[in-house]
Amino acid sequence: MSLAGELKALDLDAQEPTEAYARDESGTGDYPPQAVVLAHSVLDVQKVLRFSKHRKIPVVPRGGGSGKSGGALAERGGIVLSLEKMNRIVEISRPDMVCVVEPGVILQDLQVAVEEQGLFYPPDPNSQAWCTLGGNLAHNAGGPRALKYGVTRDYVLGVEAVLPTGEFIHAGHRSWKGVAGYDITQLLVGSEGTLGVITQATLKLIPLPRRVATMLAFFPDEAKAALGVQKIFGAGLLPRTCELMDGPTMRALKGKAPFQFPDEVGGALIVEHDGNGDGVMEDLAQSGEMCMEAGAIDVVAAQDESQRRRIWETRRMISVAMSSIRPHKISEDVAVPRGRLVDLINAVREIGARYSLETACYGHAGDGNMHVNLLFASAEERVRGQKAVDEVIQTAIDFGGTITGEHGVGLAKRAFLAREQGPDLIALQKRVKRAFDPEDLLNPGKIFP
Ligand SMILES: Cc1cc2nc3c(=O)[nH]c(=O)nc-3n(C[C@H](O)[C@H](O)[C@H](O)COP(=O)(O)OP(=O)(O)OC[C@H]3O[C@@H](n4cnc5c(N)ncnc54)[C@H](O)[C@@H]3O)c2cc1C
Repeated sequence: MSLAGELKALDLDAQEPTEAYARDESGTGDYPPQAVVLAHSVLDVQKVLRFSKHRKIPVVPRGGGSGKSGGALAERGGIVLSLEKMNRIVEISRPDMVCVVEPGVILQDLQVAVEEQGLFYPPDPNSQAWCTLGGNLAHNAGGPRALKYGVTRDYVLGVEAVLPTGEFIHAGHRSWKGVAGYDITQLLVGSEGTLGVITQATLKLIPLPRRVATMLAFFPDEAKAALGVQKIFGAGLLPRTCELMDGPTMRALKGKAPFQFPDEVGGALIVEHDGNGDGVMEDLAQSGEMCMEAGAIDVVAAQDESQRRRIWETRRMISVAMSSIRPHKISEDVAVPRGRLVDLINAVREIGARYSLETACYGHAGDGNMHVNLLFASAEERVRGQKAVDEVIQTAIDFGGTITGEHGVGLAKRAFLAREQGPDLIALQKRVKRAFDPEDLLNPGKIFP
């Protein structure tokens, strides 16, 4: 009997693996599992993990498959356990300012549901139309609004999870505060599906800001745009987003994006402020002045909601549009302290030039988290690209930053972890992994070198 057949016999929604479950958005290759199980309940998750323990077969949890570090890939075969069908918003509570969700809820669906009630769940990875909250928690996802509001971790009050041992745990609380015991909730957040399968989460909600104002600042080049970021913060402003696009990124979007850039532009910032009063427009105007001081050619404020939407649709298209410059890319998400942003951008250009490769940088400049892309067409260029990536990552570490600002280590970046973290810290994390998963069956091989 096939593995899927055995799992079906346990009354599970098991399928022969399809291509869709063999890959994610990391571009790290195809890893077909031996079977896919669509969990519909906590009991299903428990059955799969008990089966895995009994038969020593690896299990890889999966949400929307939008991950960019290969975390949801069954590198060692086994079972992909999809949580996509556990997609109920269990509760939205105004008095408690929390919501309770199953892991397969699509982020955008939650955002719409809470905003209808005047509440706000700020984490906003740009994949929000198809990533799930389980994946967001597992990767501690950020997004443009992380600049002002923080990342997923800052909104997780409690989780329920099934451990590889088969145990079911409820960690955390519904209250906004709570400090009892070790913070297992926060240990599971960002654990990339290696410690437990999250089956429910209690998330904090805040009041929805009544006013949002957005502007685009155009610069002759990306270095001036990066200087604009530093001037905005230097003036004591805290926008909710401050996203940078460099010249190649804007070239990639040309003719495709709903928002058209002027021809002479070589760098841009999307700056957004929010709040409840007139101060929002004042802050936007001041951010505009700071951009002009940094050398902006022009500053355009969105006049209405449809123009705002067009700006953000344009921003969300970048990753896909990049293929119009070169068919392939190696995409990194390093982060550096904000004060080193200009240095990082200059270093990327210099590294690209040395390896004769086109580069494109965009992303969450406000918190120093840049998506650095090395673009290539041939196998030979890919080899050069890998060497260049190595230098980009080392540069970020040397600047006091990190190998991954939000996408996670997964399998894509595990070779670099030991550059950022010392042997004792890695050994401690491996001991934590063993405490949760003594037989290394849940998402094995991820994170650690
Ligand atoms: C166009 C695009 C834009 C993006 N923008 C951003 C961005 O702005 N910010 C950002 O942070 N990321 C971004 N991402 C990356 C990605 O969308 C996020 O990492 C997202 O959180 C992944 O969610 P998912 O449901 O697709 O998870 P998957 O890719 O399915 O899985 C990701 C990881 O989570 C684990 N996992 C999934 N569900 C569970 C569960 N229930 N329990 C335990 N582990 C689980 C998996 O094993 C895997 O390790 C972007 C991706 C794309 C393609």
